Amino acid sequence: MLDPWGSSNPVEDEDYERIKREFGIEDINESLRQKLLKNRFFRRKIIFGHRDLGLVFKAIEDNQPWAVMSGIKPSGPYHLGTSTTALEIVEFQKMGGKVYYGVADIESWEDNGIPYDEAEPNAIDNVADILAFGLDPSPDKTYIWRQSKEPIVKDICFKVSRLVTQNMLNAIYGEKTFGLYLAALIQVGDIVLPQVREGPQPTVVPVGIDQDPHIRLTRDLTRRYYKKFFLPGATYHYLLAGIDGSDKMAKRNPNSSFTFNETLDSIEKKVKGALTGGRKNKKEQQELGGEPQKCMIYKILMYHFEENDDVLADEFERCVKGDLLCGEHKAQCVEKVLKFIKNHQEKKEKLIDKARELLKID
Ligand code: SF4
Repeated sequence: MLDPWGSSNPVEDEDYERIKREFGIEDINESLRQKLLKNRFFRRKIIFGHRDLGLVFKAIEDNQPWAVMSGIKPSGPYHLGTSTTALEIVEFQKMGGKVYYGVADIESWEDNGIPYDEAEPNAIDNVADILAFGLDPSPDKTYIWRQSKEPIVKDICFKVSRLVTQNMLNAIYGEKTFGLYLAALIQVGDIVLPQVREGPQPTVVPVGIDQDPHIRLTRDLTRRYYKKFFLPGATYHYLLAGIDGSDKMAKRNPNSSFTFNETLDSIEKKVKGALTGGRKNKKEQQELGGEPQKCMIYKILMYHFEENDDVLADEFERCVKGDLLCGEHKAQCVEKVLKFIKNHQEKKEKLIDKARELLKID
């Protein structure tokens, strides 16, 4: 069972095909991908599946409004995992979607016991991060809210709840606290909010595959309660494993990821300690070549820190042929990561006031 709160069962590489089949997630086929080449997450095949993305294309072709919705649980700083979704949102905004970004402070209370007021500094920090990634915050292009302060999402939660039984929630999520079930229903509100505010329109929610239970619940309830609305669609990306080789990025294992607030020294140490797809020694690597598809250095460059596709393709090829060695490649990766983070932290500092304003926090 997929666990969107991540306390159990990391998704293994071999699980993706089964999950897609079991829950009816469609592949990004080649003709769809060709239409999306401007978006690097499709181009690089990091996004592998979708629901109802065709509706967004139709809206683009017909010059109709469409929405991209996502959110962040303000329980800590952005890390490599959360920033993947944020970067995807920025790419969708460039394609013409209006961004709806929900700060899930009700969820951070239910899941992590963080009171709303204590979540505020994280919320400001998280919103400053997405602004530094290039989100255009103008009101016709972006709407940002906090769950605890947004009556629409609470209303939707109450309205749809009369269609929800405990058996349904158990079947989707397994046995959880009532608070987490409530947080899931509030999230239904987050996803439906664009259509409640601005009328029926296609909505895409970029997620990691572990969040699919929320998408299924929302689609089911939209179908039954909001009969005139479009069923919210989604795109699915491969989850990044821990950079140290652990199954997943987890806060309890600080070496599995780094945050965008960390000191450059600490980030450097972690990148240097990342799991590679290299062989036992230099001789073997030159003879057999490395395995970039298993390598966290290659993956973090592909997801975040290398803009240029040709550079990535060249590195992949040289690794496989044994012409690129891990020490050299790691040093290059460290340089790129630190340059990006330094620049990001500088940009972000100047965006804190804007983040406060968008969140309506004094
Ligand atoms: S050469 Fe680079 S891509 Fe290849 S395994 Fe080593 S670090 Fe990874």
